[in-house]
Amino acid sequence: MPAPEPHTDPQAVASTSRPAGAANRSGDSPPAGAPGRVYLVGAGPGDPGLLTARALRLIATADVILYDRLIPSAALDGARAGAEVLFVGKEGGGESVAQEQTQTLMLARAQAGSMVVRLKGGDPFVFGRGGEEALALREAGIAFEVVPGVTSGVAAAAYAGIPVTHRGRATAVALVTGHTREDEPGESALDWSALAAFPGTLVVYMGVRQLPQIAHSLIAAGRPAGEPVAVVERGTLPGQRTVRGTLATIAELAKAEDVRAPAITVVGAVAELAGELSWLSPGPLAGLTVAVTRARAAASGLATRLESLGARVVQAPVIRTVPLPGPAPELAQYDLLCLTSPAGVAALFERLRAADLDARALAGVRVAAIGPGTAAALAEHGIRADIVPERFLAEGLVAALTDVQPPVRRALIARAREGREVLPDALRTQGAEVDVLALYETVAESPPAHVLHEALAADYIAFTSASTVRFFAQAAEDPGHAGLSPDTRIVSIGPITSEALRERGLEPHVEAKNHNLDGLVRVLLADALTQTG
Ligand code: SAH
Repeated sequence: MPAPEPHTDPQAVASTSRPAGAANRSGDSPPAGAPGRVYLVGAGPGDPGLLTARALRLIATADVILYDRLIPSAALDGARAGAEVLFVGKEGGGESVAQEQTQTLMLARAQAGSMVVRLKGGDPFVFGRGGEEALALREAGIAFEVVPGVTSGVAAAAYAGIPVTHRGRATAVALVTGHTREDEPGESALDWSALAAFPGTLVVYMGVRQLPQIAHSLIAAGRPAGEPVAVVERGTLPGQRTVRGTLATIAELAKAEDVRAPAITVVGAVAELAGELSWLSPGPLAGLTVAVTRARAAASGLATRLESLGARVVQAPVIRTVPLPGPAPELAQYDLLCLTSPAGVAALFERLRAADLDARALAGVRVAAIGPGTAAALAEHGIRADIVPERFLAEGLVAALTDVQPPVRRALIARAREGREVLPDALRTQGAEVDVLALYETVAESPPAHVLHEALAADYIAFTSASTVRFFAQAAEDPGHAGLSPDTRIVSIGPITSEALRERGLEPHVEAKNHNLDGLVRVLLADALTQTG
């Protein structure tokens, strides 16, 4: 079911003098000079499956995405290749982009006419400072919409088997912040006696560090010391853990288990149900961290597969694909069109779209895809590739094209600017006239420092192309980083990637037998199973 059209707040539209007819735009370029619009979007608690359909659609159309730290790693996968994607969250206890700076940036981009998605973990209006940002937008006269998200207090509890309300156990639930700093303006201390007297479940956000004081204050204010408590760490994410105890014991237990943020604390009789209702099964890669270095959009399939096996995936994209401007190719003059990556498919259809064309422009042309990922990207546009080789390398495609009938006379290879020459050379040797069209280029991207740091310490790091190896080595050479941990196992998708690794002194521990994502996941899984015995 398609997501409903955005409801446009008539007041907001009036106050921004948006031209009539432009108000319902959701991602298309605004008319020149028109102000943009900001979407305050909740990304859910971590499991990408809990992103709403509306959030996904807005992410896919945004010009600018400003995101916080606690958003699902896969949330940004669907962003447009040309979108400006900026991390504005806190860096591991260190520097944070100040709230005012974030708001200034958000306002500036919207005023310049961009469609801005302000992406926040969980729900934007539950301890997400979304309200403050909405006020700033209203004050600046910028139209905005709020897209609620699944809040972690309810979702992490649910993933731990805890219904926050339950007949006979809790008829009310209070969402409480455990992070109270009286020195911060607008924040007041919690009213412990009111919370102790609250007739229902307390769900405490941001309370890991203060857990001892919170438990102590609740008992002192009259909440029974034996009341069940559960702390859910990394709820809905790979590596989710639940620690259960009572108000009297939970602080010690959580300390012993080294529970860290993000975690929620559920206080009340419902917390006990985690014992009976826990339902999440850990998966064979549970407890392992896998760093993925490819471009975001391309990495999503890999990340999803690894996460479904229980791994914690660190997406550290060191490359980004940037579409190159240019006209749509005249496909009718070719009898073969070769596509060598999903990014190429996206860029080709972007050019067709810009020229008011669609998949029908490919009618009558044989279409070859280098592998199943590219074939799947084509299928999304309604095109079934005629030729998909069994070996997923340029050499495989060369072999598959050797005996095609009728023989290729004129081929177009649509690909990255910096591709290998194997395919064009081979087709020319076979007597075909070959045009190579550079549709996009791959540029270096620096992942946020905390992401790179996690990637360098991961249990596994997966490389899916020689270019990711090159750009990763560049990013990791940065003086601020210690380099790859000697314990990290390196997984390579195939011989060309392995060669690039060796050139940089990195010996792959495992290499995929089938040079595709399935093959890579398979060898990684087999290796993990042998490593753990
Ligand atoms: N707007 C968010 C909350 C932001 S405050 C929401 O609606 O969920 C950040 C706090 O949310 C964290 O300190 C933690 O208490 C909680 N949190 C966020 N993600 C979580 C997760 N995956 N598991 C457990 N708690 C989480």
